[in-house]
Amino acid sequence: MRHFAIVGSGPAGFYTAEALAKAYGNEARIDIIDKLPVPYGLIRFGVAPDHQSIKKVSVRYDKVADSENVRFVGNVAVGDGVSVEELCGLYDAVVMATGAPHDRKLGIPGEDLPGVLGSAAFVGWYNGHPDFADLSPPLDGGHAVVIGNGNVALDCARVLSKTEAEFEGSDIVRHALEALMQSGIRTITILGRRGPHQIAMTPKELGELGHLEAAAPQVDPADFPPEAADEALEDRGLAKSVGLLRGYAAAPVHKAKEIIFDFFARPVKIEGAGAEQKVTVERTRLDEDGRARGTGETYELPAGLVISCIGYTSPPIVGIPYDDRGGKYKNEDGVIDDGLYAVGWARRGPSGTIGTNRPDGYEVAATIEAAMPPGSAGGKTGGAGLDALLEERDILATDFSDWRRIEQAEAAAARAGSPREKIISTAEMLKLLGHA
Ligand code: NAP
Repeated sequence: MRHFAIVGSGPAGFYTAEALAKAYGNEARIDIIDKLPVPYGLIRFGVAPDHQSIKKVSVRYDKVADSENVRFVGNVAVGDGVSVEELCGLYDAVVMATGAPHDRKLGIPGEDLPGVLGSAAFVGWYNGHPDFADLSPPLDGGHAVVIGNGNVALDCARVLSKTEAEFEGSDIVRHALEALMQSGIRTITILGRRGPHQIAMTPKELGELGHLEAAAPQVDPADFPPEAADEALEDRGLAKSVGLLRGYAAAPVHKAKEIIFDFFARPVKIEGAGAEQKVTVERTRLDEDGRARGTGETYELPAGLVISCIGYTSPPIVGIPYDDRGGKYKNEDGVIDDGLYAVGWARRGPSGTIGTNRPDGYEVAATIEAAMPPGSAGGKTGGAGLDALLEERDILATDFSDWRRIEQAEAAAARAGSPREKIISTAEMLKLLGHA
């Protein structure tokens, strides 16, 4: 019998559990450990609330959690309640699937001002992550600046500009919906330090901006290279996205709110407070290697709210070597050390779609299988040892049936048309379960 612990219950964790469960059958016991009492990580707290079809992938994860050889162990913070070293003593293999929940820093003056948020915080707020439920982003100024040219920037701009009717069927949490409906923001500027050919936005997300009820994208035609240059984009999968941007530039539509694409623009400092907050932006140009170079020309943008959407980092945890540059755990093809592995964003950094984590998890599971083939003896105590440790420390773990009860309560509290009204506090979840 082999015992495996997977730390993190997002997509990477579940795909790895699925692969290990298939490979080992009854020859292994797999614990998926999460610091929150509820599972799914990025699916619940990262994927936008108006993208319900993407969230449906959790049905597949439910099947994994229901397998006989898999357990969900929630409300257990690894690195805090239990150390990585202890887990390595209890399990044959420990797989870090923590994702990358921390915001990368901009590294410019003013980024710690109260009106400046990272996307992990802002997205966590509208998705009901217990760590960000009290965030209260400043929405009363007329202007917001969103930094970055990836899909998260698009999520943030879209959520800032939707009407109440457009949130129908979503699971945006009540506090965020109410605050957004009172928002005074009418202009959202998306800053890209490079140009339209260097975006990291996908067509579905970019296309949505063209169908908003009260907001429309504004793109400057002068920012594009000659159209012939678009041919090269086919290979990079960017042709459709850039085509959409060209469409917005060619036929501008004006609505009550504007989403302005400001390309070749990098933030250099943020100053002020409240409605007086402003971002100083420097014009850039591309150098011969395609990198953004400042031109020295600067201008100011009013920005009561600034959201930086420039990527994420994994949480440093005692006992795991950290790659500062990549913001992830140091690893070689998913192997951190003997018996210690990383998958998903914790392995690769924050890139790719949810589906990218499937081959990633299967690959690391195969590496584990090769190191300790099914049928080989392990001699570790696994889940029984963890349970004893948790009891000794008075840590009340949740299991998948507890999650089912929370899920039912959330469904029962849902607004008409919405799948759930998320419980946004860990204490409240534990109270519902009779754990507090
Ligand atoms: P991303 O795709 O890596 O985009 C980050 C953006 O931030 C890039 O445009 C980057 O520009 C810019 N940036 C980085 N450092 C900067 C700085 N110091 N100053 C200004 N700009 C800076 O990251 P993401 O948007 O956080 O998305 C993370 C992953 O999740 C991606 O794989 C994304 O596709 C995925 N995702 C998918 C969906 C969906 O499918 N619906 C939704 C959300 C997220 P440079 O290119 O110049 O570095």
